[in-house]
Amino acid sequence: MNVIEVCGARMTYPGGVVALDQVSLRIGQGELLAIVGPSGSGKSTLLNIMGTLDCPTGGTVRIDGQDVAGLSDAKLSRLRARRLGFVFQRFHLTDGMTAAENVAAGLLYAGVPRRLRRSMALAAIDRVGLSHRAGHHPHQLSGGERQRVAIARALANEPALVLADEPTGALDTKNGHAVLALLQRLHAEGTTIAVITHDRQIAASMPRCVEIRDGRLVSDRTR
Ligand code: ADP
Repeated sequence: MNVIEVCGARMTYPGGVVALDQVSLRIGQGELLAIVGPSGSGKSTLLNIMGTLDCPTGGTVRIDGQDVAGLSDAKLSRLRARRLGFVFQRFHLTDGMTAAENVAAGLLYAGVPRRLRRSMALAAIDRVGLSHRAGHHPHQLSGGERQRVAIARALANEPALVLADEPTGALDTKNGHAVLALLQRLHAEGTTIAVITHDRQIAASMPRCVEIRDGRLVSDRTR
């Protein structure tokens, strides 16, 4: 079963820049893959259309077999909150909330009832090994810990697919390695994860590596 199928996607921005051209990509349940390419190759554009944050100007995107083009904004937001998890380079945690509250807030948008949110948030924080930091605020955490909280938030609702955009880009080498090791472990536990990166070394460490250049997929290798 594919969790996402991008078929013949094209993205032409106003002004005529073709950021994606005939991009097709299927991701099966349980995969861990890198989408790698240099700056300007179209990675963010692809991430945005996979995350249903943007609509391609051509081609289709299916999530759980469903073509997202026909969905209303409300249905799309619900699908995104329930089926996709996002991890950003700069964490995007809210400073006035504890780690547990940040994770629980993500569940609010997914429509999880209040009585379940806290226990699900704590379970997700436990999965990333940060139970002892659940009551801390982001500014009391290291960069690596913040990213692990952000990963817990992305995971909490057991999404079909986690999209991680340069998840180690704001971290030093040691914390970067710890975050990659965590993603590998979550993959081993069954989570489906796509990592967007410009770093070829990171890409090479993943079980599958899809390379994008000038808006086209130029290789797709599985180890
Ligand atoms: P990457 O994430 O690999 O750096 P992007 O997807 O951001 O690549 O960009 C791909 C191409 O599309 C680039 O040439 C970029 O300048 C162009 N681009 C990206 N976003 C926009 C936009 N909103 N409007 C016009 N051009 C854009």
